[in-house]
Amino acid sequence: MDQLTLMAVHAHPDDEVIGTGGILARCADEGIRTVLVTCTNGEQGDAPGGIKPGEDGHDEAEVSALRLAELRESVAHLGIDHLELLGYHDSGMEGWAANQAPDAFANVPVERAAARLAELMERYRPQVVVTYDENGGYGHPDHIQAHRITVAAAEASGVPAKLYYTAVPRERIAELFEFLRSTGAAPEDFELPDDFGVPEEQITAMVDVAPYVERKRKALEAHASQGENIFLLRMPADAQHRAFSHEAFIRVFSRVPAPGREEHLFDGLR
Ligand SMILES: [Zn+2]
Repeated sequence: MDQLTLMAVHAHPDDEVIGTGGILARCADEGIRTVLVTCTNGEQGDAPGGIKPGEDGHDEAEVSALRLAELRESVAHLGIDHLELLGYHDSGMEGWAANQAPDAFANVPVERAAARLAELMERYRPQVVVTYDENGGYGHPDHIQAHRITVAAAEASGVPAKLYYTAVPRERIAELFEFLRSTGAAPEDFELPDDFGVPEEQITAMVDVAPYVERKRKALEAHASQGENIFLLRMPADAQHRAFSHEAFIRVFSRVPAPGREEHLFDGLR
């Protein structure tokens, strides 16, 4: 039998931490080989000091070099065995000028990028593959593209026995923000959109990664050049624990018998 292997496909350096850092670290500890595929170089991220693309002092080559160095540090904290970089150009958030670049990841033909990912699936033979849902989790064009190429590569290669989408559990996040408001860490008038995240009843796997909260925090700290990570790192420790101690997934398919509600992505595989 093939070695047990988990492959996570993410759009940008730092996306690996919040939704999958715990399962990656937990699998590594359990002797499951872990492969992280990062599709872009993160050129449209913040430059140090919170400088945004298009502003003075934002240099794409410097930003991507910094973010890839941060990624390698994060990978070390999470114990990930193999990092595979597809090397595409970051498309930026929807509506940004970078969306128009022909070499932006979101503009690469799906079948071309999917063929490269299918090759990696054939090389590593992951039983379990994880990526985003059809909305890319929150609508970022590169996340949607990562979703598309992963679904296409899984289908073309026929390699993964199970495919999952990461999910943000709506009720837990609403509770977290309630808690943050009560501690003053989030503004009183901050409201999450009602359709934020996924209702808990749609989630098929809730994985306990509480023992890995500290490693996730260190991995996120490695990505401290990015503004939204700084927000998460500044949350009180108990809020961080609530945010990082569970990871939620929706099973897309399983070719092996597995329980309807799972506690681990390798349920049914060992
Ligand atoms: Zn991203």
